[in-house]
Amino acid sequence: MSIFRPDLLAEDLFDLPLADLKAKGIVHILFDVDNTIVPYNSQEIPEATIEWFKQTTTDGFHLCILSNNSAERVAPVAEKLGIDFIARAKKPLQNGAKRAITLFDAPKEKIALVGDQLLTDTVCGNRAGFTTIVVKPINPDELWITKWHRNYEKLLYRLMGIRR
Ligand SMILES: [Mg+2]
Repeated sequence: MSIFRPDLLAEDLFDLPLADLKAKGIVHILFDVDNTIVPYNSQEIPEATIEWFKQTTTDGFHLCILSNNSAERVAPVAEKLGIDFIARAKKPLQNGAKRAITLFDAPKEKIALVGDQLLTDTVCGNRAGFTTIVVKPINPDELWITKWHRNYEKLLYRLMGIRR
């Protein structure tokens, strides 16, 4: 069960405990894109989100997208946010996580992964030894496979005694 259990829960990006993370030396943060930063397959990023990424970078965090989606999809988002990206990460496999460690040039203890899905984001981060943080999905209009995952997530949250 522990592979599915996130270290922290947050409502959304703005709710992330940045000061706590920094105090622990966790200054490298990976972000899922779809339904974590923007609604599924949307290219429109709210101004407040762009501001948040710029300010958080200014505050000394190294931020990077870690997405299973294509570079065509995530590169424009990363560019607007002014951060790095890793596409086709194959979460929950470790391909992208390993690339992230190389990119950050940092130990796993200093890396956090933020995402909206237990079965892909959280499992990937937990396997890699990152601090895992789950946010609530922005938009329920998702791929069929994701909707299917959500049913398992509901069960997992219940089994782990986590209220969402
Ligand atoms: Mg997602």
